[in-house]
Amino acid sequence: MQAVIIQNLYKNFGNIKAVDGISLEIAQGEIFGLIGPNGAGKTTTLRMIATLLKPSSGTIEVFGFNVEKEDNRVRELISYLPEEAGAYKNLRGIDYLKFMAGFYARNGNDKNKIIEKALEIARLGNRINDRIRTYSKGMVRKLLLARALMHNPKLLILDEPTSGLDVMNSLEIRNLIIDYAKGGTTVIVSSHNMLEVEYLSDRVAFIHNGKIIESGVPAELRNKYQAENLEQVFVKSIRQ
Ligand code: ATP
Repeated sequence: MQAVIIQNLYKNFGNIKAVDGISLEIAQGEIFGLIGPNGAGKTTTLRMIATLLKPSSGTIEVFGFNVEKEDNRVRELISYLPEEAGAYKNLRGIDYLKFMAGFYARNGNDKNKIIEKALEIARLGNRINDRIRTYSKGMVRKLLLARALMHNPKLLILDEPTSGLDVMNSLEIRNLIIDYAKGGTTVIVSSHNMLEVEYLSDRVAFIHNGKIIESGVPAELRNKYQAENLEQVFVKSIRQ
């Protein structure tokens, strides 16, 4: 079964065609990169997959469930981390994770397991006991990623997960995503950093002015366009 099937998806905001006829399929267990410049339609697409925004027309299925008609079923299976997500700054990291685990756990034992898993993912050591307002951006992102993954979602949707982070923190976040996906979780990650997506993704799609202009396995795209990296592929595919 495909994890995500998008057919003829459109989203207009007044006269703006934010998403202009997208169709794509994402296989189960795949890390799929949605790449495009600012304003291309990445966030709008991700928000529709995450049931937070209604399509103007077209359909999206997540593990066979329609995001509009079966949005509750979809929400049980996914986790969405928006680019601008924040955490309650006055809480300690550990208390934030405990609080969030309460939403997912069926009983006390379950809750402890979920928290333990989140601690493993966050890798914040003793700093987990400090208040979130004392964290660096990279530490907050790790905490949020731990929250997004603590309940084993089948589909993880990440909007620009490393934006604003330095090289080392970005690398750590990317490795964390790759490690996690080995367990079978499907991941959709958006970015305007094409080199980052190239490193992360099994397959990518380029989005430009709300349309998918090219998609495929990074190595195959590099071959097709005689390019050294996905940035060059993007530039060449736009000029076609
Ligand atoms: P970025 O990399 O800058 O985050 P993006 O690829 O995620 O860009 P979107 O945020 O999906 O792009 O925006 C696509 C287009 O839709 C843009 O022209 C944007 O201005 C417009 N848009 C998005 N949300 C709204 C909204 N709520 N109201 C009006 N226009 C919107």
